[in-house]
Amino acid sequence: MLFDNHQLEKIKASETPLYYYDLNLLDETLEQAKRAADKRNFHVHYALKANFNDRVLSLIQSKGFGADCVSGNEVQKAIDMGFPADQITFAGVGKSDKEIILSLQHDIFAFNVESIQEMEVIDELAGKLGVVAKVSLRINPNVDANTHHYITTGLDENKFGVPTSELEHAAAVIREAKNVELVGLHFHVGSQITDLNVFKSLCVKVNEWKNWFEERGTQIKVLNVGGGLGVDYQHPDENPIPDFEAYFDIFDRFLERTAQQEVHFELGRALVAQCGSLITKVLYTKSGVKKHFLVVDAGMTELMRPALYQAYHKIERVGDSEETPILYDVVGPICESSDCFGKEVPLPKSHRGDLIAIRTAGAYGEVMASRYNLRNEVRYLYSDTLNLSSSL
Ligand SMILES: *Cc1c(COP(=O)(O)O)cnc(C)c1O
Repeated sequence: MLFDNHQLEKIKASETPLYYYDLNLLDETLEQAKRAADKRNFHVHYALKANFNDRVLSLIQSKGFGADCVSGNEVQKAIDMGFPADQITFAGVGKSDKEIILSLQHDIFAFNVESIQEMEVIDELAGKLGVVAKVSLRINPNVDANTHHYITTGLDENKFGVPTSELEHAAAVIREAKNVELVGLHFHVGSQITDLNVFKSLCVKVNEWKNWFEERGTQIKVLNVGGGLGVDYQHPDENPIPDFEAYFDIFDRFLERTAQQEVHFELGRALVAQCGSLITKVLYTKSGVKKHFLVVDAGMTELMRPALYQAYHKIERVGDSEETPILYDVVGPICESSDCFGKEVPLPKSHRGDLIAIRTAGAYGEVMASRYNLRNEVRYLYSDTLNLSSSL
């Protein structure tokens, strides 16, 4: 990562660990995504759960994206940040009554309903409030996302959505429900999907189930195909912005639809992952049996993805070094063996006080931080103002 001298000085003067957000890269990423979507009349809701840092959110909001939420607090946050209620979707297998009522009161764009019982509960609560709930039915299409099994969501064995074997029953419940209006069908098959063929397979399933409903006399206004577009964790500098053109083009070509039917997306990672880096300081160097360790001041408490999904993040030295590279295991201070950011990472011979950047940490990084071991709240720094603040 290239910092200019001014930025480097600010980073060196700041307490670590900290998240560094490159707002210029975020801006350019959002521009490219918006342009590619607008061209095709596609609607994009940003999945707040990937990153709800205030500056990140407000930039996304200012570009005209909708919001995709998975909790009542996220719905409230989206509204507080200025996202229009009629561009907010609410997904999740376990919506509480309180969360449903809040969303009904705000008259959000749609609930992505994940079970028949949830449909009945939303109908009942909407009736009590005297409103009509707009819903999309989340269908589990049994498409393999070819990604890590913890972030695969569209297989029969996953907890998400209504299995296709239950659709006949679901359609009957929707017909009977007096306070529910079916606006669309919703699909989300997984995350960090880099094989665009997965999205082609998804289109085939969406067409199939849309036709299934239409043959039964139910018109579908919205086709919501979820998110999941992956980013290049290996090459953040060569590939800082995902190929949104190619991604949207797949849906443009393979989704069958009329001019009245809207296509909606819920992108999280693809919009925010590359703009964030976790900056950490070397506390100690130590050599074990055939091993060199770099003990850094960030841990799984700041970035959980490696411990949780064995995720790869590129790790590099901040600033220049003349030293020859050595293979290091880069580990954090937390009392867990899984608290390791990378094994055998080539880095210039390092010393106490050196700064390290863990790249592509803008998505599912800061938001997953915990206070385990009574760690400090996460700190962060923005590329433009370079004012250190504390979050969460
Ligand atoms: C997490 C999530 C998304 C966003 O996924 P990304 O892989 O970050 O794009 C979209 N829709 C739903 C329903 C989700 O749960």
